[in-house]
Amino acid sequence: MDSEQFRECAKATIEMLIDYYENIRNRNVLPSVEPGYLLKLLPENAPEEPEDWKTVLNDFSEKIMPGVTHWNSPHFHAYYPTGCSYPSIIGNILSDGLGIIGLTWMASPACTELEVVTMNWFGKLLGLPEVFLNCSDGPGGGVIQGSASEATLVALLAAKDKMIRRLTQINPSLDHDTMKNKFVAYTSDQCNSSVEKAGVLGSMKMRLLKSDPNGKLRGETLKKAFEEDKAQGLIPCYVVANLGTTGTCAFDPLYELGPVCNEENVWLHVDAAYAGAAFICPEYRHLMKGVEYADSFDVNVHKWLLVNFDCSAMWVKDCYDLIYAFDVQRIYLDDVNTTIKIPDYRHWQMPLGRRFRSLKLWTVMKMYGADGLRKHIRDQISLAQYFANLVSSDDRFIVEPEPAMGLVCFRLKDGDQNTKKLLQNLIEKKVLFMVACTYRSRFVIRYVITSRLTTKEDIETSWSIIKDETNLLINPDKI
Ligand code: PLP
Repeated sequence: MDSEQFRECAKATIEMLIDYYENIRNRNVLPSVEPGYLLKLLPENAPEEPEDWKTVLNDFSEKIMPGVTHWNSPHFHAYYPTGCSYPSIIGNILSDGLGIIGLTWMASPACTELEVVTMNWFGKLLGLPEVFLNCSDGPGGGVIQGSASEATLVALLAAKDKMIRRLTQINPSLDHDTMKNKFVAYTSDQCNSSVEKAGVLGSMKMRLLKSDPNGKLRGETLKKAFEEDKAQGLIPCYVVANLGTTGTCAFDPLYELGPVCNEENVWLHVDAAYAGAAFICPEYRHLMKGVEYADSFDVNVHKWLLVNFDCSAMWVKDCYDLIYAFDVQRIYLDDVNTTIKIPDYRHWQMPLGRRFRSLKLWTVMKMYGADGLRKHIRDQISLAQYFANLVSSDDRFIVEPEPAMGLVCFRLKDGDQNTKKLLQNLIEKKVLFMVACTYRSRFVIRYVITSRLTTKEDIETSWSIIKDETNLLINPDKI
């Protein structure tokens, strides 16, 4: 492809995407394909001869698109949102266009420095305590990880290293492997699967402690677990608190968990992957009360803040904890001398290479402005409330727990079997997509406002589809 062909192809691709978003509302949110559909459609080997870009785009439209689930459709209500916006796409195009890898400061000074700037901007927007920010006097700072899963694992590995350093300082003759085998991590039974997986990947036993009836992990429960384990000669090392659980968007009280962790020198990581975005609105910041006790904090900007996957914003109070844990030197990575204020980010993450992810965070923050982002969050929360009111007005349904952020959980009073059947029937229609969770042992359907395009009319359409399916399920004779 030469420059002229690139120009034409890029224009056609952008046109195609604009068309896609203009008409996305008219598509079924779920595709109508069977497993293996694409394997049958595409040849077994890569083409020997180059193909014209028009053929490639045509194949994309005819063969690939039919198998796409439309995450940004206003009728996608599953999981949590995946951010997507035109400003973010522009940031991604610029990043891909430059095609750089920010291994070191010299490998692309702007890559490092824009990350520092945007993470300071974003940390301030969230109202994080200054100690977490690179612009404070101390060793705190922010870094963009690829996912919340990576942030949880990075924090776990740093916690392990920090605990070994601390215990070795007290008793230098301690054997590292013996110590590591005694380390225990804790979180709640409501944690995201990625938190449990961090324990598996980081070889640390992860206890999923029982949450209270509202899905919160309480300080007393954590304290008791520490005591039980210490009595058995084990060493509490790492805690993951959840601000906005995946199931029901419950918020663990950091002000209870924090003092328990700090007292035992246990690392406290905060997984605020979805709901953390709401802290850009001051009225939700009470939900992170106690954040000053945390060692690390993570929000997926790529979930609810209009930035395309992948962009997970992580802050640590002391970047030396990461550097001590992950610093591996090679001559070819020697760089000009910088200070921790201009970080060598390769020591703050798992891979060596780094994408220029801050570009899309920058384009989104600049083109929406803080006000635009706050409006997005507030609009989505009020749409969720609108849906909750519609469901509550039908006495066949129960909304519980209380809607939180953009999530509404509901079920049929008729029983779990019918709620399950209702969800299954709705998914089979492919026009709405939702997933389930359990709340107080009951099967509930989760309805999340995900798309920036969702309007009140879309919510009314959803509700009317849900009501029709319910009529068919519960009162088929009356139809
Ligand atoms: N934590 C919570 C609360 C989540 O809801 C999710 C994903 O939905 C994750 C972590 C994992 O996020 P990621 O896919 O960025 O690893």
